[in-house]
Amino acid sequence: MSEGTAIDNDALLRSHGINVTAQRLAVLRAVCDRPHSTADDIDKVVRAEIGAISRQAVYDALSTFTDRGLIRRIQPAGSPARYEGRVGDNHHHLICRACNRMVDVDCAVGYRPCLTAADPSGYEIDEAEVIYWGRCPECMQTDSAIPDNNPSHPSNITGEATS
Ligand SMILES: [Zn+2]
Ligand SMILES: [Zn+2]
Repeated sequence: MSEGTAIDNDALLRSHGINVTAQRLAVLRAVCDRPHSTADDIDKVVRAEIGAISRQAVYDALSTFTDRGLIRRIQPAGSPARYEGRVGDNHHHLICRACNRMVDVDCAVGYRPCLTAADPSGYEIDEAEVIYWGRCPECMQTDSAIPDNNPSHPSNITGEATS
């Protein structure tokens, strides 16, 4: 994983036309250091590091970075969005239903061939978002039960944000 030196991130922000501030650098570093964190996670990390930053500033930075393609936003059904610095390779994700741990998994069959839909219905496809749900090795070992509120059922989405 990228160690994300201050100089690299500085250049990265500039190259995407984003003004460099200590707050933005801290947010970007937190995302790159802790892939698949939620905005709340990032907020805690950044606040512990530089103190003076509002929750709104963290959220604004995350959305700016996402819009400019600097970071990627993953929105699993029934859970808060996660952010990561690994962009542009169309990789997918494995999520544990029991502990919510998310890991990267490379594109299903090589470089972007999963963009070839069986029937694209005339759409020009530029992204395939795949999330594999299951249980991680640790959770299989502890044999913990899969929770009742199965996150793959959109009817259970309450948009709960631990605020
Ligand atoms: Zn797990
Ligand atoms: Zn990822």
